[in-house]
Amino acid sequence: MIKKIPLIALALSTMVGCISQNSEKTYQIQSPNGENTIQFELTDLAPQYSVKHGNTEVIVPSKLGFVFKDNDTLQHNFEVVSQKESSYDNTWKQVWGEKHSIRNHYNELVVHLQEKSEKKRKLNIEFRAFDDGIAFRYVFPEQGIKDSIFIMDELTTFNLKEDGKAWWIPAYDEQRYENLFTASPVSTLDTVHTPLTIESKSGLALSFHEANLTDFASTTLAHTTGTTLKTDLVPWSDGIKVRTTKSFRTPWRTLQIAKKPTDLITSYLVLNLNEPNKIEDTSWIETFKYIGIWWGMHIGKYTFWEGDKQGATTVHAKEYINEANKLGIDHLLIEGWNKGWTPSWYENAMHQFSFTKEADNFNLKEVTDYAADHGVKIVGYHETGSNLKNYLQQIDSAFALYKKRGITTVKIGHVGSKLNMKEWHHGQFGVNYFRYVLKKAAEYGLEIYYHEPIKDTGERRTYPNMMSREGARGQEYNAWSDGNPTSYTTILPFTRLLAGPMDYTAGILDVNIEQGYPGRRVHSTAAKQLALTVTVFSPLQMLADLPENYMNQPAFKFLQDVPTDWEDTKVLNGEIGQYITTVRKDINSDDWFLGSITNEDARSLSINLDFLDKNVSYEAQIYKDADGTDIDHNPTKIDIQKKKVSASDSLTLELGSGGGTAIRFKKI
Ligand code: CA
Repeated sequence: MIKKIPLIALALSTMVGCISQNSEKTYQIQSPNGENTIQFELTDLAPQYSVKHGNTEVIVPSKLGFVFKDNDTLQHNFEVVSQKESSYDNTWKQVWGEKHSIRNHYNELVVHLQEKSEKKRKLNIEFRAFDDGIAFRYVFPEQGIKDSIFIMDELTTFNLKEDGKAWWIPAYDEQRYENLFTASPVSTLDTVHTPLTIESKSGLALSFHEANLTDFASTTLAHTTGTTLKTDLVPWSDGIKVRTTKSFRTPWRTLQIAKKPTDLITSYLVLNLNEPNKIEDTSWIETFKYIGIWWGMHIGKYTFWEGDKQGATTVHAKEYINEANKLGIDHLLIEGWNKGWTPSWYENAMHQFSFTKEADNFNLKEVTDYAADHGVKIVGYHETGSNLKNYLQQIDSAFALYKKRGITTVKIGHVGSKLNMKEWHHGQFGVNYFRYVLKKAAEYGLEIYYHEPIKDTGERRTYPNMMSREGARGQEYNAWSDGNPTSYTTILPFTRLLAGPMDYTAGILDVNIEQGYPGRRVHSTAAKQLALTVTVFSPLQMLADLPENYMNQPAFKFLQDVPTDWEDTKVLNGEIGQYITTVRKDINSDDWFLGSITNEDARSLSINLDFLDKNVSYEAQIYKDADGTDIDHNPTKIDIQKKKVSASDSLTLELGSGGGTAIRFKKI
């Protein structure tokens, strides 16, 4: 099933005008349109790089290198042995995604360095300049080193020319990536996760992240002095950052550069830096919408564990299958179906879940047979509780059981502060664990989505059974905590979502959560919940509310209609933390869908419909906050209007405080 696809590389050995080398031993590479320039040089025999966007200096000379065990530094005393320039231009197609065809176009400079000292170690640095940003990675080639290599620190810095407003979540937190974003100057940061998005003083939108995180620690960014950030590799529990043998290749260090924040969203630089699809037959990989025995647990109607209020029973499962049929939704997630759940399942402990034994009152075969008879597919669920010793012992039998029962998608949870109560989710141990499970799932023909995951660095390109993931505060926080503030979902597209799809679980129409805990609610209007299915891209889109809240709801039609796989995506407007309007074209029809959301401020947004196909008419099916509706006034009230429009028209969207608008443009 796994095969290697050769890269179609355009190697040009003489790139006149692209790369110049002057007598001071500086090496330059420019992006194809000339906008982004990377300069490399040896200063006092130490490698340094800098980055410019047009004439604007973005990164001023910054360090490169490593520290190995015993304070053995690989940073100084280098000479450039050789350099190689090339250019690449190829358009590839996603198996599924937010855009079908993606152009990968860059100029590359590879610098081969060697120490002048007695060790004479080699280090290659590969730089790529794209029109939407830059990237580089280190390759430490095989060179006769027989001992293990322990990386104690990566010395890469990003010395920003000027300060800017950074949108960040803290690294090394017990909640993993599940934190609210703060906006503050780069110069005041501590240690933060990526993607790290910055609005620079001179007006550029920047986002630091990494691509193709494979067999390495993920990096966080630590503020050192001034406006300098440094890679801070997440350590193993013994303090070593990365363990390897013979050679290593780091993930790509990426910096997306745009003139405005909305352009970061349609930059595919991170995907372009991942390897092409390795799964030969992808016919079994599908995108879909699903409902779940899930929200009931979060709002306290049901329990994950066995007892009077047990959510996952055969009876409930059959009811949900019947309701899925009524709603026209063909996938159902069932959590808590197996043995091992207790009222304290989420606490840090080595919980012993079984992945093959059913909970009392639940019969997996009966449920999957009933589902198959009714045209519904069950989405499997494995909660590891971060006890990976327990999970990995059972993973083959667990995957085999799902295959046998016709289950082709598995949600895998990792609640817990540390994996095995010991290792960070985002250290090399976690990175390798998440990749191992992904590849194993591919062998079983299973698509997966992770909760409490490693951050996304674009591996869905290589393994397109890597569907979606959490990796941020999701909707569930609204059920049992103060919740996600109104502005939160207007920050996500510019930050977390730059990494890749998110299983946010939108679509709560009963935003007051009538059956939930007192004082808990969803901090948006119901119309905004519809719009989130467009503004938050996920190939698996949960319609998270209780099915009964969808019955006889005219607005549910939008959730029925909205696709999960797209031909194209455009962002019409937006400001981080304030509002965003995204349009996407269905991959299977000529219809476009729009989602527009706002923070606590009501606003009216004028949009041009010139993204629509020319010379045809559309029926705009508009789902908006009803007149006088906002987060505090009748938030569940959705007004549905129909209007004939074409590409030459414009529309004004009226969003209430905490509100939104969703539109299907149906070709007529
Ligand atoms: Ca979670």
